Amino acid sequence: MNLPSPNRDIRELPKAQLHLHLTGAMRPATLTELAGRYGIRVPPPLPSAAGTWAAFQDRYDASRAVLRTPADIRRVIVEAATDDAADGCRWLEIQVDPTAYAPVFGGLEPALEAVLAGAAAAPIPVGVLVASSWVRPPAHALTLARLAARYEGVVGFGLSNDERGAVVADFAPAFRVARDAGLLTAPHSGFYTPAAHVRECVELLGATRIGHGTSAATDPQVVDMLAARSVALEICPTSYPPFGVHELSTIPLKTFLAAGVPVALSTDDPLLFGVGLTGQYEICRTALGLTDEDLAFLAASGIQASAAPADLKTRLLSEVATWLATGSQ
Ligand SMILES: [Zn+2]
Repeated sequence: MNLPSPNRDIRELPKAQLHLHLTGAMRPATLTELAGRYGIRVPPPLPSAAGTWAAFQDRYDASRAVLRTPADIRRVIVEAATDDAADGCRWLEIQVDPTAYAPVFGGLEPALEAVLAGAAAAPIPVGVLVASSWVRPPAHALTLARLAARYEGVVGFGLSNDERGAVVADFAPAFRVARDAGLLTAPHSGFYTPAAHVRECVELLGATRIGHGTSAATDPQVVDMLAARSVALEICPTSYPPFGVHELSTIPLKTFLAAGVPVALSTDDPLLFGVGLTGQYEICRTALGLTDEDLAFLAASGIQASAAPADLKTRLLSEVATWLATGSQ
């Protein structure tokens, strides 16, 4: 006989959110308001059936167009941090590719500075990851890594967008600069690409975290390697069904949990996928049958894999343990 779930309140579980894109962090109402202000048509929502990457990117690019001033960026970050804080988030990392904002803001530096100013104004601590794109030249990634290395408040470097088609090794110089500057390194991988791509990101780029990385579950050797090196996967459950990558019930979280691979549950783009941080944990409970012990492990993994200061990590990990102990039956 199954014992009833303790049903602890997931909102109360202290969490770190490690995979959130600036544009995708926008509240839908803010998108509507800013689009109205600037005379931009609000793009339609993603179709619920399997969509294409191009359709996603079109909507994403159009949403980005409504961020025109430092005040717009500050508003998005403060609102996102407020929403995450209400979901129990105690440390937030926002990633941004400043390239897309540079033409409007007058260069890469002012674009990044607007993001850092927004992060500093948020109600919870917010670290910034500078992300180049897999679809831009490796030389540009190097430029952004050097930019990232110069700014206090930047905690990491990544590569976003569609990871298919690029040669992983070509990005090694950019990641070397980031690592030498003490930044954590978190490229997107293993979303469309196979487990071998995840392995290359760890071995050739020195990735300390992987954005998504769920395909790694198909190769036990890659799973073992991730566990042995404590490379955390930033898994965002609602990002997979719209693209036919996984159904919610087939996300291989139990494979990673069984192997001890750290997993940081995150939201990716709540503007597009409509589910916040607590909702991602709820999905793991309801669609994947994870226990509260599992959820506490995920929360602790996210905290440990974050760029949060050591004393904050210690405090949050202790609070995760308290959450689990308090609701036991
Ligand atoms: Zn992402």
